[in-house]
Amino acid sequence: MTDISVIGGGLAGSEAAWQIAQNGFNVRLYEMRPTQPTGAHLSGDLAELVCSNSLGSNLPDRASGVLKNELRKLNSLLLTCAEETALPAGAALAVDREKFAKRVTEKLEAHPKIQIVREEVKEIPSTPAIVASGPLTSDALSNSIANLSGENHLFFFDAIAPIVHADSINMQVAFRASRHDKGALDEGDYINCPLNKAEYYQFVEALQTAERIELRAFEESINSGVKAGHFFEGCLPVEIIAGRGVDSLAFGPMRPIGLTDPRTGRWPYAVVQLRQDNLVGSLYNLVGFQTNLKFPEQKRVLRMIPGLENAEFERYGQMHRNTFIASPKLLRPTLQHITRDDLFFAGQITGVEGYMGNIATGLLAGRNLARLLKKQTPHTLPPETMLGALCHYITHASLKDFQPMKANFGILPNLYLDKKIGKREKGLAYAERAAKTLDAYLTENE
Ligand SMILES: Cc1cc2nc3c(=O)[nH]c(=O)nc-3n(C[C@H](O)[C@H](O)[C@H](O)COP(=O)(O)OP(=O)(O)OC[C@H]3O[C@@H](n4cnc5c(N)ncnc54)[C@H](O)[C@@H]3O)c2cc1C
Repeated sequence: MTDISVIGGGLAGSEAAWQIAQNGFNVRLYEMRPTQPTGAHLSGDLAELVCSNSLGSNLPDRASGVLKNELRKLNSLLLTCAEETALPAGAALAVDREKFAKRVTEKLEAHPKIQIVREEVKEIPSTPAIVASGPLTSDALSNSIANLSGENHLFFFDAIAPIVHADSINMQVAFRASRHDKGALDEGDYINCPLNKAEYYQFVEALQTAERIELRAFEESINSGVKAGHFFEGCLPVEIIAGRGVDSLAFGPMRPIGLTDPRTGRWPYAVVQLRQDNLVGSLYNLVGFQTNLKFPEQKRVLRMIPGLENAEFERYGQMHRNTFIASPKLLRPTLQHITRDDLFFAGQITGVEGYMGNIATGLLAGRNLARLLKKQTPHTLPPETMLGALCHYITHASLKDFQPMKANFGILPNLYLDKKIGKREKGLAYAERAAKTLDAYLTENE
């Protein structure tokens, strides 16, 4: 009997364990919660969604929709559980997070070939294994991965934007509009807080000088900007952007382009945009305002924004750890480690971002481990498929600039479509090619 371990009962690990068991192998799924918490998860359930309850768009012409279609073809357990526990959310697949996690937990607990072990794994096993321990991998296991991977093991931080109560926003000052009046279709209906030049410069100075949460030694060099590349550029804390130059924010998350203030008929000098955060519209998040300032400082500085002078905060901004390995150097597109055929990585730790991408890599790693044990060649999915493209990206990207990646059309091989073709048609063309390619690949290889 082969001793198979999956480390981490999150999105990737739960899907991986299921796929291995469905292929006829006994598998031990190790999850350290609830005895050892991660700091972000709240329960002991498997597949807990730590933040948003949305698994992204279900539309066939969107990248996330394409990935979902592939997961349907590949019999993903977690996608089925998500569809069974879905909430009304327009074109998105949003779930009741508790029901979703409970459904996944029950399914795995009931599977005769899966044994769930509530224990922290401290060392990478020498027997066949999948490491799916996520962005908050425990320290002991991180060390073991670092020992295996040398200095190529990377750390990086995500930052969360603050959320305010809608009824605490001063709508005498703030105004509703989408950029260039595009309406609610793509961008949603934003609340905009306008700043004139003097207000903007005062605000930037306050951001630059406000007290930040103390970071540990290895984070400080990153925070000082020395190794700013370790931040995801699309997710830089506002105080870091402000520190790069007084007008950086006005050209970044605070750019006023296309936002006409109805009271002046002009674009303000700078704007803070707020986006609806919950279905009833009682909460709004500050778009692009992820921050690592101390909570009382966030309250003081953000209340300097016109329209937010009495803002009530539902949640303050935060930085959180995101551990991922140097996949371009360490992984193959089959998700196998370069040094060991029977060691796979899956989920966020590979540098794939987004709930669906994490589920998808778990599925592929699980299936590939089972194929290996059956003496079949593990799948390298074609890059025309969204899952194949994600695996290709993380294993072929330039190591120097390697940043985690979400499913998106930009990572698929170009289709060279007529320039006049609309966004939706383009999306559908890529989706159709992905579906056909996957069908043909599976017919030939399964
Ligand atoms: C605060 C926060 C907010 C986020 N918000 C979003 C969001 O809104 N949308 C989004 O798409 N992504 C978000 N992410 C990223 C998110 O974590 C992933 O999308 C997804 O949860 C990753 O799936 P995973 O299976 O790789 O990791 P996880 O779902 O985190 O699962 C890993 C599991 O491994 C366990 N574990 C860790 N170390 C060990 C060990 N040594 N032994 C045993 N078990 C271990 C953990 O307890 C955990 O249950 C967020 C991440 C964090 C930290």
